[in-house]
Amino acid sequence: MFVFNKITQETDLYNLHTHTQFCDGHATMEEFVTEAIALGFTHLGFTPHSPISVESPCNMTRESVQQYFDELERLRRVYGDRINLYTSMEIDYVSVGDGPASDYFQQLPLDYRIGSVHFIPAIDNPSEMVDIDGKFQAFKARIGKYFGNDIEYVVKKFFSQMMAMVDEGGFDIVGHMDKIGFNASQYCPDIDEEHWYDKLVIDLFENIMDHHYTIEINTKAWLQRNRFYPNLKYFGMLKHFNAPVVVNSDAHYPTLLNNGRLEAIKLLNVL
Ligand SMILES: [Zn+2]
Ligand SMILES: [Zn+2]
Repeated sequence: MFVFNKITQETDLYNLHTHTQFCDGHATMEEFVTEAIALGFTHLGFTPHSPISVESPCNMTRESVQQYFDELERLRRVYGDRINLYTSMEIDYVSVGDGPASDYFQQLPLDYRIGSVHFIPAIDNPSEMVDIDGKFQAFKARIGKYFGNDIEYVVKKFFSQMMAMVDEGGFDIVGHMDKIGFNASQYCPDIDEEHWYDKLVIDLFENIMDHHYTIEINTKAWLQRNRFYPNLKYFGMLKHFNAPVVVNSDAHYPTLLNNGRLEAIKLLNVL
């Protein structure tokens, strides 16, 4: 088991959630490494979207996994004296047996694993997995097309997928645990302020704590949407229960490697 405590106690300058040319990132691994070094980072973890059983242009293929490992080895040889580089993946939880706990992902030589939900089953056709993670316009169109405009179903299904992922295990860090909250609240203002919504987040949090996973504070949307995942209003709960956390920028561009991270750390520390 990867010990993140050591990193977070040692420095604020790290990122363990980074997307590159191996999935939907907009720069090469090497460009991220040089930017990280320039920023003074001492730890950088790569997390391509994992190979997946559903149609997804954002995810890497199984065929490119070895190439990814080889490139990381090369970068370690070149930059390893300046920065610690980690091999990881952001692994999609799709359905029972098709997620981080599967033999395929368990056998890969990864330093740690992030488990995330980006897909949920369509309301009338559970075998059709729909991407609910994208930009709001695409999300809105899919809510009509695949979910009969039933936003409550979508929110509840997202959290039940997260719960199932946590129950199945096989990963170290829970990725953006309440990410559905932003798109859902654009679709239906203040849905994320409702009691039942809050309960879904708290139940998930308690389940994560029972399983002793590390919670990611994902800062990717801070600059544009003024939102962290989990939402700022849950930081007090993380702190109160002394939850193990890592603060990740989920960067797809090198220039965004530290985006929102120091703000989140500061807010956590003042609580
Ligand atoms: Zn993600
Ligand atoms: Zn990501």
